[in-house]
Amino acid sequence: MAYHLLQRDKPGAQRLAESLRLALERVRHCEKCNSYAEEAVCILCRSERRDATLLCVVETPADVLMMEQAQCYQGLYFVLMGALSPLDGIGPREIHLDRLLRRATDGLVREVILATNFTVEGEATAHYVGELLRAKGLAVSRIARGLPVGGELEHVDSGTLAQAVLERREV
Ligand SMILES: [Zn+2]
Repeated sequence: MAYHLLQRDKPGAQRLAESLRLALERVRHCEKCNSYAEEAVCILCRSERRDATLLCVVETPADVLMMEQAQCYQGLYFVLMGALSPLDGIGPREIHLDRLLRRATDGLVREVILATNFTVEGEATAHYVGELLRAKGLAVSRIARGLPVGGELEHVDSGTLAQAVLERREV
C-alpha cells in the first residue's frame, strides 16, 4: 500500500496521512464502554433507546460493530481492548477490569453477557470476568457456541459439533 501511494497516488497519501493525524489527535476511549470515541461518552452509550440493564463484554471495538450489524442486541457494551494472556503480560489491569467492575455495578445493569472470543484467551477471560461479576451478585451469561446458520453437520469441524451437542437445549 505504501509503495502504491508513493508511486501513483500522492494526493491520496496526503489525505490518508491527514486522516490518521486527526484520528490520533481526536480518538480516545469512551468513559463508559471503553470503545473508541471522539467525545467523552460515545453515541451508543448516550442513546436512550438502549436497554441499560444489559451489558455485553467484548474484546475489541470491531466486535461491537459486528454485534450491531447482527441487530440482535439492544443493550450496552464494555470493550476490554484485549483478552487475558499472562504469557504476553496482559493481566486484569491491561484489560481494564477495575473499570468493568465499576461499570457493571452502576445499579442499572442486571445481566452481563460475556461475548469474548472462543479462543484459549477469550475463554479464560470469560471465566475470570464471570467469577468476578457473579461475586458482585450480577447475573452472568456466555454467548452460545454451535453450528453456523445454514451449516451442515458433515461439513462442520468436530470441535464445534462437540460443543453444539454439549450445549444443546430443549425444543
Ligand atoms: Zn461508549
